[in-house]
Amino acid sequence: MSRIQTAEEITRNYGERCPDFEPGCPCCQMWAMHDEIERLRASTPVASQIEGDVGGKETVTVPIEPPAALLRSMAIRYDHGLGVPGYYDQQIFGAENIGHARRMESTITTMRQLYEEVVGKGFYRPENSNAE
Ligand SMILES: [Zn+2]
Repeated sequence: MSRIQTAEEITRNYGERCPDFEPGCPCCQMWAMHDEIERLRASTPVASQIEGDVGGKETVTVPIEPPAALLRSMAIRYDHGLGVPGYYDQQIFGAENIGHARRMESTITTMRQLYEEVVGKGFYRPENSNAE
């Protein structure tokens, strides 16, 4: 899975939605990803919840505590397979695979750490840096 395709592209390249969702089916995977991205795009961006539209601005204010939907969006952007329910529960990923739910949990922990870097709760501290 690479780029997120539009509904028209998915229909052309994979076909219409299958009647039942099957995590191993490429067509179902593409539609599940499409639906998840649409849901995430429909949610209001964190910065604009506070400041209005972020378009054209050079800086925005974000909350120190990230909303769950933001962390989920970050996780799925980092690993598109996480946007397909049950994707990492498939046998093809081998016995060492920890499964979909735990992989999502682990990736969200990583995304929370990255977010902490942005809001000054990580290793990097603007006041201590040499302003690179
Ligand atoms: Zn299918």
